[in-house]
Amino acid sequence: MDIVIVGGGLAGSRTAQRLRRAGFDGTVTLVGGEPHAAYDRPPLSKQVLTQEDEPAEPPYLRADADVELLSGVHATALRSSGHRVLLDDGTTLGYDRLVIATGMRPRRLFDGRRGVHVLRTWSDGLALRAALREAKRVVVIGGGVLGCEIAASARALDLDVTVVELLEQPLVTALGPAIGSVIADLHRSRGVDVRCSTRVARLEGANDRVERVVLADGTALDADLVVVAAGAIPNTEWLSGSAVRVDDGVLVDRFGATSAINVFAAGDVARFPHPWAQGTVRPEHWQTAGDTAALVARNVLAEPADRVPLTAVPYFWTDQYQSKFQVIGLPSADDELTVLDGALDGRFAGHYTRDGVLTGLVTVGMPAVIAPYRKRVGTPL
Ligand SMILES: Cc1cc2nc3c(=O)[nH]c(=O)nc-3n(C[C@H](O)[C@H](O)[C@H](O)COP(=O)(O)OP(=O)(O)OC[C@H]3O[C@@H](n4cnc5c(N)ncnc54)[C@H](O)[C@@H]3O)c2cc1C
Repeated sequence: MDIVIVGGGLAGSRTAQRLRRAGFDGTVTLVGGEPHAAYDRPPLSKQVLTQEDEPAEPPYLRADADVELLSGVHATALRSSGHRVLLDDGTTLGYDRLVIATGMRPRRLFDGRRGVHVLRTWSDGLALRAALREAKRVVVIGGGVLGCEIAASARALDLDVTVVELLEQPLVTALGPAIGSVIADLHRSRGVDVRCSTRVARLEGANDRVERVVLADGTALDADLVVVAAGAIPNTEWLSGSAVRVDDGVLVDRFGATSAINVFAAGDVARFPHPWAQGTVRPEHWQTAGDTAALVARNVLAEPADRVPLTAVPYFWTDQYQSKFQVIGLPSADDELTVLDGALDGRFAGHYTRDGVLTGLVTVGMPAVIAPYRKRVGTPL
């Protein structure tokens, strides 16, 4: 059997490892996309930006799977009826099973202006690291996880930092207004100018270089570096015209299978029904990328009747200054937050409920509470 995996990030490489670990001895071809072997993205917004010495190479993931790696090659089209993937080096790969793990790319705003950066890849990380060392005043557009981590890293380098967030608090969609306000206060206490409920109208500056960020209310912020952290877009264009259904991600069933025969998807690109979610979810978290890769590796090799559904509890973490926020479950912004231990301005643990059902847990500095809650999330309180 020939298995092709498109996308050589965490989900693609984990799928390959799991296939080998399960004893699969056929061909595994990994269409890598980037010029590097698989590496970890979380350090890109943290240590890679702040550490004193420039890192010599990406934070590589363990690469112990025996695969045919096509680095720097992209899939350009899928002919699902013929079980073939077309590549940008002009070749075609046939497959018996295909795994889509093409991840996301940053939403770009104000492209083409010098001094404007995004962060997703190793080369983005190195470029931003260099720019931070030249900059004095940074504006981060977007107060989500990525934007807040970049702001914290820029403050660690003693830069003047402003975060501009469209919604009423940073991270409000993921964690609700109470934790959003904790995060805003944390950044403000470290000297970040956090501006919520506003948007960037335009950038100004001579010779296409950014010198000012102008907000919708007319406020002008001096800036020599702008980081756009305003969300990401699933890499699915190459699937157009195939039998794979796409709707803000590749739609998969609870077994990780797409609408095309023998085609599966894992990682940030996959949108799946979760037992406790209304509709479908696409969490964009490191843990979920690994969990969905493990699921798909198992189900790719199984007969349809023997496939197992996704049951893993979603988990993510974010490091901001000395605080590590850890979150399990799928809380919504309007779920009720109850503080169980500690205080919101320090170490704490709190759970989220909706209609009497436990939807998630958030903690800072109390990692021991997570394990017992894993089994309880999704059940009535
Ligand atoms: C800067 C940063 C910090 C993060 N920090 C955290 C954190 O602290 N905690 C947390 O829980 N999560 C974090 N995440 C999220 C986590 O890293 C992602 O969920 C994870 O990387 C997703 O893995 P993936 O393999 O699905 O996608 P990706 O890692 O994006 O890999 C997809 C790969 O597919 C390639 N590709 C795309 N299109 C094609 C094509 N047509 N043909 C071939 N290849 C293609 C891409 O180039 C890429 O190499 C962070 C993400 C970033 C960017």
